[in-house]
Amino acid sequence: MTHRIVILGAGYAGLTAANRIASRARHAQVTLVNARPQFVERVRLHQVAAGQQPREYPLRERLRGTAMQLVIGRVQALDPQHRQVRLDHATVGYDTLVYALGSAADTTTVADHACTVADLDSARELSKGVPDLAAERGVLAVVGGGLTGIETATELAEAYPHLRVRLITSGQPGDWLSARGRAHLRRAFDRLGIEVLPGVTVTRVDPEGVVLAGGRTVGAGLTVWATGFVVADIARHAGLAVDGQGRILVDDTLRSRSHPEIYAVGDSAAAYRAGGQQLRMSCATGMPTGQCAAAAITARLAGRDPEPFAFRYFIQCISLGRRDGLIQFVHPDDSAHNAVLTGRTAAWCKELVVRGALYATR
Ligand SMILES: Cc1cc2nc3c(=O)[nH]c(=O)nc-3n(C[C@H](O)[C@H](O)[C@H](O)COP(=O)(O)OP(=O)(O)OC[C@H]3O[C@@H](n4cnc5c(N)ncnc54)[C@H](O)[C@@H]3O)c2cc1C
Repeated sequence: MTHRIVILGAGYAGLTAANRIASRARHAQVTLVNARPQFVERVRLHQVAAGQQPREYPLRERLRGTAMQLVIGRVQALDPQHRQVRLDHATVGYDTLVYALGSAADTTTVADHACTVADLDSARELSKGVPDLAAERGVLAVVGGGLTGIETATELAEAYPHLRVRLITSGQPGDWLSARGRAHLRRAFDRLGIEVLPGVTVTRVDPEGVVLAGGRTVGAGLTVWATGFVVADIARHAGLAVDGQGRILVDDTLRSRSHPEIYAVGDSAAAYRAGGQQLRMSCATGMPTGQCAAAAITARLAGRDPEPFAFRYFIQCISLGRRDGLIQFVHPDDSAHNAVLTGRTAAWCKELVVRGALYATR
């Protein structure tokens, strides 16, 4: 019987894995399942929030030249015992499964009255509210001083110069960057008029703004919640071994530790570098995990031993609007060293990296 390989999720990691498997495992039946018929460039969603129109990338076009089947549907549940995936309208059987359902905004602390940029619908929703707020010179609060918070605050401040942007964070924004990187960030915030409120804990978001621990309210007409990502509960409910965040525990070939017929890649996988460092959720790590899982699956189907996952960080690329950026060079473990690239050159580098990621999914 033909071996059935099913990939769940056509984001950066899933699409990378699917295309590689389809080009190498020519005797297998490969099926890609995704909730929407387009590939979404998730790393551009802060641009969408700022009113830029994303290009549409129909998945059928991105699979052209392969014999892969595309099923559009939302995964509801996984039944590893019967090797089946339950979608909203169908059930799909598999022999080997690649789980690549990505992540969503972490709104566990504060869900009400906050917007997010972690998925296309939310970013589009946010983009509708910003022009009116900017026209009345209102305040937009961004909670979270990590990569997503920084990129969102700067993008919106650049696109809407009359908007008063406040960046609120428990530490310092970009506190993992080198001294030169942090200094550039401060200059960018000053140039764009972004007010930074560091070292505070947000307990609630309400229609008037952001409520801090201690009771003080920071006024805001709109609040963007950008404190991190979480994964869906599908794997946990299916009985797969997961970590505290619900990410699937995998071995050094991205294979589930509890269910060897299942591989996990991208944000959904609790994957590690050699030496034990867990990979952070990112496109930069997601695509290599997709490549590695694809290579492992095709090697095992051919009766060969797969290569273990090997990964080193190289740079962090941060956009600061369309005309400025920060490329932070990092050690293999993602810690910053002193070299940075800034300004328009960095903005261009980031743009090239984003385009390169899109190209590499094919
Ligand atoms: C604004 C923003 C900026 C970012 N910038 C960067 C950056 O500069 N560099 C970087 O490395 N990372 C960045 N990231 C993080 C990066 O986008 C994610 O880590 C990356 O997209 C993860 O890839 P993935 O393939 O695991 O998941 P995703 O890209 O999220 O793909 C998951 C796919 O699964 C589908 N899916 C989800 N649930 C279901 C379901 N139940 N049924 C069917 N289909 C489903 C989704 O539709 C999607 O197609 C950014 C994220 C955001 C939000």
